[in-house]
Amino acid sequence: MKKRGLLIVISGPSGAGKGTICKALLQKNKDLKLSVSCTTRAPREGEKEGVNYYFVSKEKFEDMIRKNEFLEYATVYGNYYGTPKSYVEEELNKGNDVILEIDIQGALMVKEKYPDGVFIFILPPSMEELKNRIIKRGSETEDSLKTRFNSAFEEIKYMSNYDYAVVNDYVEEAVKKIECIIIAEKCRCSRV
Ligand code: 5GP
Repeated sequence: MKKRGLLIVISGPSGAGKGTICKALLQKNKDLKLSVSCTTRAPREGEKEGVNYYFVSKEKFEDMIRKNEFLEYATVYGNYYGTPKSYVEEELNKGNDVILEIDIQGALMVKEKYPDGVFIFILPPSMEELKNRIIKRGSETEDSLKTRFNSAFEEIKYMSNYDYAVVNDYVEEAVKKIECIIIAEKCRCSRV
């Protein structure tokens, strides 16, 4: 029988580059599965239904909460975000490794349910660079930019709850480090 897959949880402040890293990681490692979250926030330009998120109404999201369809969910910057449980469980049971790119509140919830997951925190090279990246993205209003930047300071305080910290100076390097972490985790005596 195939061994259960590894659950890989990736978090970090807005602008640290989690999205870019996950995209590159998935492109290089075709066997990795990304869990697509549900959210009540509006799609950004270029975002696709079912690829970046499942964009749902608040009513639909709350209905899914009632039906216990989320592995975890949280309110982030005023919108709901949640990980559909069935996809993650199915893939792990098939022996596939699954990536969750979620916020810290969600990651802490997952840690309680899946203590053998691997928790990776992505850091920007500096706070100045973080600010530049959020501005460059151009998708945030002045208010939302401030909120995201201020929460970054708060979020970094939670880094000690994670197993690994990866600085995203260069995407390729960061991806390589995550690949090494995954390999090392799979070699743990407890998993072999
Ligand atoms: P964004 O609006 O920039 O796509 O995402 C905002 C934050 O929500 C990011 O920190 C992202 O990691 C987080 N997020 C995305 N999907 C989920 C999810 O399913 N659950 C939780 N808890 N956070 C999520």
